[in-house]
Amino acid sequence: MHVTIVTAFPEFFENFLSTSMIGRGVKNGLLRVDVLDLRSFGLGNYRQIDDYAFGGGGGMVLLPEVLEKALYTLRESSGKQGYVVYPSPQGDLFSQEIVETLAAQEHVILFCGHYEGLDERFVSRFVDREISMGDFVLTGGEIPAMAIIDAMARLVPGVVGKETAVVEDSFFRGMLDHPHYTRPAEWADVKAPEELLSGDAAAIESWRRNAAVERTLSRRPDLIARANIRPYLLKGVYVALVHFPVLDRRGEKSTAAVTGLDLSDISRSCKTYGVDRFLVTTPLASQRELVKTMVRHWTEGGGAKVNPERADAFRLLKLFASIARCVEWIEKREKEPPLLVGTTARKRSGAFHWIEAKRRMLREKKPLLLIFGTGSGLHEELLAECSMVLEPLSGGDGEYNHLSVRTAAGAVLDRFFGWR
Ligand code: SAM
Repeated sequence: MHVTIVTAFPEFFENFLSTSMIGRGVKNGLLRVDVLDLRSFGLGNYRQIDDYAFGGGGGMVLLPEVLEKALYTLRESSGKQGYVVYPSPQGDLFSQEIVETLAAQEHVILFCGHYEGLDERFVSRFVDREISMGDFVLTGGEIPAMAIIDAMARLVPGVVGKETAVVEDSFFRGMLDHPHYTRPAEWADVKAPEELLSGDAAAIESWRRNAAVERTLSRRPDLIARANIRPYLLKGVYVALVHFPVLDRRGEKSTAAVTGLDLSDISRSCKTYGVDRFLVTTPLASQRELVKTMVRHWTEGGGAKVNPERADAFRLLKLFASIARCVEWIEKREKEPPLLVGTTARKRSGAFHWIEAKRRMLREKKPLLLIFGTGSGLHEELLAECSMVLEPLSGGDGEYNHLSVRTAAGAVLDRFFGWR
């Protein structure tokens, strides 16, 4: 990570860059933070860096030519353009997404404003991104610059020691962090949660996941839309691809034929998004034989040698004669029945918006079975048995929504179990 701060007050950063985790990161060479004194580019004997704002009112504005000189000098010495950031109350609200974008830049240059800020002509010509710390006004950009560098530094491996687990922090996985407790076990008549004192790693993990879910649901339910909920579900997640009962083109109940592409693509999506097993159901024995042949080819035969990643995906596939058998198998494995989540391309009363469905999955804490239909979609007799049916996926004006089941499965899995 390489950041340069351009400031009229370099002394602000002395303690910041030599204290605690940031100090260690700088000392160990994990972070490179240069501080450039804007005054060294000031005009005349007095090193003037600002002047009165046109139009009166008394405010001072940082001079564009001074700012430009600082930037050109930097570019010349580093040989890099740099990603120019101006902390400003008028910028994009700072968030973990922005932190990740900044952390991916080769060199970030932070221009700290003061007084009324930077001359607008410099901002519009050179600034790549304005970033705001929130809807309030600070005296200068130095504190925002520290916040930006601190948040970026946490993403550099080795900067944050074992004392803080970055992956568990709020927003890192899109959810809020769980609460934390330390000694004594009882303080001011309040005991720390028993699970945390139990020494039982699984009980501790499950308490933490649950507490993070409860916090996020009660304080920031909006975050659930973008979170990958897979690490927070304590039970298994399964995907079923159903070939009966489905609809044919005329809307009649029928049995669809198994397609190799569906098996291959959906098993790969399942592996990518952390689904436990991909369950394929068809009542036709000859079709099950066909699936077995394909699975053997990709997991043990010639296919496995040529494409080991596909072998890993195909190992998730399990065959059943019916969805009822599939549900029985999950119930036995998980010791409780799964929440059945149906999907359909048709508009249907009682359908769940996917964000609502995500919240419910977290609240119910049950195993999940996401069911996808082949042919022209799942028959109503199966949809009626589901605890939730998701709203159809749609794009554009929503009129045309004929996605292949492979595409639909990928899009649905990404909404629930994708990092965003
Ligand atoms: N006249 C400016 C306005 O109202 O938009 C405010 C200027 S402020 C007094 C001086 C400098 O502090 C800004 O140029 C900016 O660098 C920094 N600053 C103040 N509030 C900020 C915030 N909420 N987020 C990021 N930077 C801020």
